[in-house]
Amino acid sequence: MLDTDRLEARPEYLRPWQRDAACLSEDVGLFFPPEAERKGARLRREARAKAVCGRCPVLAQCRAHALKVAEPSGIWGALTEDERMHMLAPPSPVRSGQRS
Ligand code: SF4
Repeated sequence: MLDTDRLEARPEYLRPWQRDAACLSEDVGLFFPPEAERKGARLRREARAKAVCGRCPVLAQCRAHALKVAEPSGIWGALTEDERMHMLAPPSPVRSGQRS
């Protein structure tokens, strides 16, 4: 997701792939949670943001970037922060059934 306020002030922050982002014309609040958002409102907001991502021509680049730098918040590449953290988490140790 792009912070267009920041980009207007410092356009050098724009990565080449972000110039084609579908979220450029969207409200940044759709992609980043407000404080104390209730679960139902969050789920509806995330669904709307993901719908924008679904028509975005740079979804793959956005998702790869967010996973590479471990973006800590917001919707990036149609993934929530929780979904990204889950993807980045190391696999749980497999129980061997043996005692050490
Ligand atoms: S995938 Fe979603 S968050 Fe990423 S640039 Fe596209 S619309 Fe924005």
